[in-house]
Amino acid sequence: MSKTKKRFIAGAVCPACSEPDKLMMWNEEGVPHRECVACGFSDTLNEQGLSVPKELGTRVNQAQPAAAKPSVQTVQFFPNPKLKKPAE
Ligand SMILES: [Zn+2]
Repeated sequence: MSKTKKRFIAGAVCPACSEPDKLMMWNEEGVPHRECVACGFSDTLNEQGLSVPKELGTRVNQAQPAAAKPSVQTVQFFPNPKLKKPAE
């Protein structure tokens, strides 16, 4: 808890108030958090590095950027068993 090191991100612009050099960043359990000291905006970044505002619940209420689909796609091809002749 107390090990959290917050540091300012040089050159970063707050997505909420557009103030430069007001964003602090730190990690919690490997998750990057950001917070603006100017306006109080805070968010986290997901695995894709996309901003995840904290007030966002599970609800999808915003047009999310078309996130690239995970490269691991479950593509399963089932041969039609009916086409298979029973092996005798
Ligand atoms: Zn701000």
